[in-house]
Amino acid sequence: MKKKLLSAILSMSMVAALLAGCGSAAAPAAEEPAAAEEPAAEEPAAEEPAAEEPAAEEPAAEAPSGAGNKVGVSMPTKDLQRWNQDGANMEKELKDAGYEVDLQYANNDVQTQLSQVENMISSGCSVLVIAAIEGSSLGEALDMAKDAGIPVIAYDRLLMDSEALSYYATFDNCKVGTVQGTYVKDTLDLDNAAGPFNIEFTAGDPGDNNAGFFFNGAYDVLKPYIDEGKLVVQSGKTTFNDVATPEWKTETAQSEAENRISSFYTDKDIDVWLCSNDSTALGVENALAANYKGKYPIITGQDCDIENTKNMIAGKQSMSVFKDTRTLASQVVKMTGQILSGQTVDVNDTETYNNNVITVPSFLCEPVFADANNYKEILLDSGYYTEDQLQ
Ligand code: BGC
Repeated sequence: MKKKLLSAILSMSMVAALLAGCGSAAAPAAEEPAAAEEPAAEEPAAEEPAAEEPAAEEPAAEAPSGAGNKVGVSMPTKDLQRWNQDGANMEKELKDAGYEVDLQYANNDVQTQLSQVENMISSGCSVLVIAAIEGSSLGEALDMAKDAGIPVIAYDRLLMDSEALSYYATFDNCKVGTVQGTYVKDTLDLDNAAGPFNIEFTAGDPGDNNAGFFFNGAYDVLKPYIDEGKLVVQSGKTTFNDVATPEWKTETAQSEAENRISSFYTDKDIDVWLCSNDSTALGVENALAANYKGKYPIITGQDCDIENTKNMIAGKQSMSVFKDTRTLASQVVKMTGQILSGQTVDVNDTETYNNNVITVPSFLCEPVFADANNYKEILLDSGYYTEDQLQ
């Protein structure tokens, strides 16, 4: 009962926090929106993306048939669960819409991704959809695409330092962090509780533009309480660079967490471990299981990976943020059709994502709060997972 009530309060205060916006994100909004090839002129940027029903729920039905066009889909790695789902969803949706698909995974190796994308260009793809390993390392290939007149969509992660990018489709990355930070604030009742509470942070890959947005979104919510001493970071690691996890690796997050536990928490409790995503949360959960004796902390995550969802059910992870990869795939397939047929491309943000060269017209899908109370509804009832997968 108490949990249900907390969930309801959380949802309400999260909505309030989310409406307040995401403050300082990693990439500042550029003053002059760059000239996109087909600017969505008539549609001004929606400050708050259509909250309840993401437009992407609509199937890509209105998009024209893709017959005769090949789409190159470049994914970073098969190692992390979500990219397998993203790739599979993209392939299915594109094929259903009549496209030929060249789907490649780059094994988290930048050179491999570069040559895979170059091959997609020389083998005649009409559109490229790229989830970069490292946002700023594909410049050469993007220049080639531009010279060949091939539109590029950045998928989930922004492609940096290039003007050869047409659109960006992602989830509202800053909002992901806000949801995590607000969860911590509300669960500890930081406005009323005396504290102090101990908190540690674990963030993502410095080469992934999203990682700063996640971290800043959460940190901005918690900073006032850190400043007033109600939240204490015993390790002193409070900046993104202090807590970043190269390649989002579980093992790296785990060894860093083990170090912090043995250096600072042999005789103290950790009240919160704010993890930007599920792969890093898993590392922290492993570290806690291995060598921590205190009270079990609140742990945040993102993605609702299977292992983490099981951990939420088992009480080893407090929450995650669900980003329905089916929604993102539908949106990108729709975008692809709109680009190829010269229609206005659906975007709902033309201010947030500057890649150091241009501000990229973007479509931001809605992230959704998930915990042990609502996972059945959002993950099972929606058909994202079967019950068996969570056993
Ligand atoms: C994605 C997250 C994911 C992380 C690690 C980020 O770019 O947005 O959903 O957890 O990469 O794969």
